[in-house]
Amino acid sequence: MGLGDDTALVLFSGGQDSTVCLAWALQRFEAVETVGFTYGQRHVVEMDVRPSVRDALRGLDPRWAERLGEDHVIDLASLGQISETALTRDAAIEMAENGLPTTFVPGRNLVFLTFAAALAYRRGARHIVAGMCETDYSGYPDCRDDTIKAMQVALTLGMDRRFVLHTPLMWIDKAATFALAHDIGGDHLVQAVVELTHSCYLGDRSWRHDWGYGCGECPACQLRAAGFEKWQRDYERK
Ligand code: ZN
Repeated sequence: MGLGDDTALVLFSGGQDSTVCLAWALQRFEAVETVGFTYGQRHVVEMDVRPSVRDALRGLDPRWAERLGEDHVIDLASLGQISETALTRDAAIEMAENGLPTTFVPGRNLVFLTFAAALAYRRGARHIVAGMCETDYSGYPDCRDDTIKAMQVALTLGMDRRFVLHTPLMWIDKAATFALAHDIGGDHLVQAVVELTHSCYLGDRSWRHDWGYGCGECPACQLRAAGFEKWQRDYERK
């Protein structure tokens, strides 16, 4: 075994997807650290819920408590300064003329993965786990599987260190993400995802739905609500 073979760094925003990715990593790797990024998001609710989500996962399994290590927060304010999007400016969330949602922050995931790899290099972690997904909505080009594979090659060559990028949600929809959470951590993990994580684009936590907190109207909320409903319907909760 080489350096960092059993160490993973998880891109962890405090949202539903990255929380399931964190649980996925805790199931597989001996040592797991998390990294989050601030980049002038309009709403920092996600960042605020991160510690409580980490604590909840620690409480679910003594082995996870042992494995979950440091949390890192990296300030990428300059990324927010150069991007005009509905996530960083007070603009409507809709489809822009280029066919991409106005929530698209150009290059965001490329920057995140590069900083994550630089951190993983320093921390001696070989594995980087991230929640990018091609299946649901959006069509963010930096969530594509080919983009991630290209980044794995670029980072491995550019830092002369073997990195493996894992995207466990790449080919599954939100219903299957709930099912994956249930497979990994049962009802307790699903409950933690629903109670604690935050994905609403508007940063709303005043409404509690079956599927969690959020405005219920924005694309992120609608996706999550539909996924939860489909999971309950199609996966025959046992
Ligand atoms: Zn919302």
